[in-house]
Amino acid sequence: MKSRWDSVAAEQMVAHYQQQGVPADLALRVYSSRLLGSDPTLVLHGGGNTSVKLRWREVSGAELDVICVKGSGWDMAVIEPAGIPAVRLAPLLQLQSLEHLSDEAMVNAQRCNLLDSRAPNPSVETLLHAFVPHKFIDHTHANAVLAVSNQPDGLQLCREIFGPTMPVLDYVMPGFKLAKAVAGIYAQQPDAAGVILHKHGIFTFGATAREAYERMIAMVARAAAYIAQRPRPVCQGRVEASMASAEVVPVIRGALGVSLGEGSYARMVAEVRTTGTPAEFCRRADLEAAAWRGVITPDHNIRIKNRPLVLPTPQSDAAAFKQAVHTRVAAYAADYRAYFQANDALFPGSRRQLDPLPRVVLVQGMGLIAFGKTKQDAIIHADLACATIDTLLAAEAVGRFEPLAPADLFEMEYWSLEQAKLGKTQELALARQVAVITGAAGTIGQATARLFADAGAAVVLLDVDADAVQQAAREIGRQALGMACDVTDATAVRAAFDAVCDAFGGVDVVVSNAGAAWEGPMATLDAAVLRRSFELNFFAHQFIAQNAVRVMQAQGTGGVLLFNVSKQAVNPGPNFGAYGTAKAATLLLSRQYALEHGADGIRSNAVNADRIRSGLLTDSMIATRAGARGLSANDYMSGNLLGQEVLAKDVAHAFLALALATKTTGHVMTVDGGNIAAALR
Ligand code: ZN
Repeated sequence: MKSRWDSVAAEQMVAHYQQQGVPADLALRVYSSRLLGSDPTLVLHGGGNTSVKLRWREVSGAELDVICVKGSGWDMAVIEPAGIPAVRLAPLLQLQSLEHLSDEAMVNAQRCNLLDSRAPNPSVETLLHAFVPHKFIDHTHANAVLAVSNQPDGLQLCREIFGPTMPVLDYVMPGFKLAKAVAGIYAQQPDAAGVILHKHGIFTFGATAREAYERMIAMVARAAAYIAQRPRPVCQGRVEASMASAEVVPVIRGALGVSLGEGSYARMVAEVRTTGTPAEFCRRADLEAAAWRGVITPDHNIRIKNRPLVLPTPQSDAAAFKQAVHTRVAAYAADYRAYFQANDALFPGSRRQLDPLPRVVLVQGMGLIAFGKTKQDAIIHADLACATIDTLLAAEAVGRFEPLAPADLFEMEYWSLEQAKLGKTQELALARQVAVITGAAGTIGQATARLFADAGAAVVLLDVDADAVQQAAREIGRQALGMACDVTDATAVRAAFDAVCDAFGGVDVVVSNAGAAWEGPMATLDAAVLRRSFELNFFAHQFIAQNAVRVMQAQGTGGVLLFNVSKQAVNPGPNFGAYGTAKAATLLLSRQYALEHGADGIRSNAVNADRIRSGLLTDSMIATRAGARGLSANDYMSGNLLGQEVLAKDVAHAFLALALATKTTGHVMTVDGGNIAAALR
């Protein structure tokens, strides 16, 4: 671990923010916070916090002392001055004389003393930063520090490693009590360069941004050097799974899906890590004993709970593995309820139990799978779990990993400020669901993918055009994944569904939308043309549905198949026989799946759309057809009962409505502005 301080870059940042009226000290605070935040061995995903004390000029012209401290919700790696809001220092210092201060009163005092009413809540460790007089203060949860501190003799070991300038404080719950304890240490030892928080992390102090930062790096480097001298213990025995992750992950995802009744489920999205250190860790024969029983720093358990779920090696007997997964998930949940009840009784007041399901799963012989409400949450959980494994291995090299006691971890997990947030977020209609859309680079496919993503789904866009589908996914954003796939190739479709399972954990909604029209009179139609049409307009739908059902059955949490059929399926137009006959077969395919998989909770519905501007109906085709009828293009496109052109987004809304209609299966929804001749009977 080396200092990455670059004087030129620091000065450039000062100059950059000076143009926006940001004081130089705050700009340097941004600079070194980013240095800390961009090193995942120091902090992860919004962890850690930093501060600077400075003079501030109010709008009236009056000057006052403030502390600028990291705001909650900001990630130090990408922090801006707005993420380090200024708080009046004097009122915070007055709180130091109090004996007790509730978390709610503390947060309120911090919020009331902000200079910008729109600023985020200052960190819950603001008072600690305020009570220590140094100008710059840095706080991280560095893995190396946690590895030497999460030990039975961690206090003594830390004193040896970090030396007399770094007092070591036994664990205290973050908040007012910790702020008072650190202030007490500083009063006893005003020359302290920082403080080591046992089983929590490290603070360093400095007169300048550089001094605080370089003290942090120097101290973390000491811990890392101590660890590096000790060989990692060699584990005996290695296990290899014989099932593929794409088969295993949907089973686990399904077991973690909670039935909400009436065919709805609270599901989670997965992040799968089957390479590198986490996978090696999971291949240990002694994984069950080696897995952690407590997180490396207390605020991690709010995200990943205290321990992972450990699953046995998936061997070729898929049914036996599925049974084992369900048994172990039930046992994990029972243990969690017992942990809640035992610890809830130890603290005054009442709390609401959080859901008892794991967020991190270690599959022996395979790797680490993390789950979250969104893909981004799942990635964060996986990163925290990987940091836990790294720290645990380092701790085992040093001695024996010993996390905080369950009661201390419980106090953090059931912190009143976290409890207050429960039940306040309204989830989107397709939150926690994974949707696969084919023909996704086309007009209707893109509109559907975007609408589903806006409704909260993780979306996978499949299309034969690799570049176009990647571009379409990029335009939707982080929760979209674009993949090239020729849906007429059964092997490619299987591979695409495997990739979806590895990317998100499974599938809940499929919009089988890819299609193309071949024209020509039936009597003289080349058989090869008819076959091509059936490959894309019928067999591709069958391959997609087969694979979707396979994954949905592994999950056991229902699902929905949606097919883009066509008005042609019920109301043939001249020269469109090749298209219409295949689409008519697909309409029946949809009903067949509805019939055969209703008992699995898998619904199957179709949309009959007509006359949509798309790759199937281009502007030149519209001009030709309108001309043949003596109509303008606009009159041709709006030639329906409602007199309005039907757009791709209208079709997308029909797919969404059918995805959400939990009691509807075997249905065909018409989206054509009204065409009585094509009405179903
Ligand atoms: Zn902390």
